Amino acid sequence: MTRLIFLGPPGAGKGTQAKILAESCEIPHISTGDILREATDQGTPLGQKAQGYMARGELVPDDLILDLIRERLSQPDAQKGWVLDGFPRNVTQAEFLDRLLQKLNQGCDRVVNLDVPDEELVTRMLKRGRQDDNETTIRRRLEVYRSQTAPLIDFYGERNSLVYVDGNLPLEEVTSSLKQLAQP
Ligand code: ADP
Repeated sequence: MTRLIFLGPPGAGKGTQAKILAESCEIPHISTGDILREATDQGTPLGQKAQGYMARGELVPDDLILDLIRERLSQPDAQKGWVLDGFPRNVTQAEFLDRLLQKLNQGCDRVVNLDVPDEELVTRMLKRGRQDDNETTIRRRLEVYRSQTAPLIDFYGERNSLVYVDGNLPLEEVTSSLKQLAQP
């Protein structure tokens, strides 16, 4: 059973690596960013509410995310493990996740902090060219990461579940370090 949380700044490669790892472990890759982008593409009520925040590089309000995660982790396919990517993103979400996992009788094995220097993050995001990958939004996302998400490094560090992985290496090397961690 593998249950992993991916932390790390925007552009660190969380999505790419989380997807590869989840496929190789045959468990769901749960990305709140992907779920929200799908909702905005389809114009669902969730998507309509989330759109403006995402375009500005702000976090969407917690109440939009928390129910979504509760439902997703309660699905049958999530009972054999998961890789969480993009959640939790602030302390409220992390505390919610703690309580939820307790209720669901699930535990998280490891929290992976994917480390990449700032200059490299900006270069990667500009190359990627997603809708929210313009300079103003990127700058805001990095600020939001520092103020709201980076505190989770201490939050999880205090419980010894945190591991650092160098995300500034070639893609395949990052994947192989992660695969070693994911082994049950
Ligand atoms: P990145 O890691 O490059 O910032 P994501 O795909 O994880 O990209 O997230 C894109 C956007 O989706 C975020 O900027 C934010 O607006 C929204 N989002 C994703 N996950 C969350 C979350 N857990 N809480 C609040 N907002 C979120």
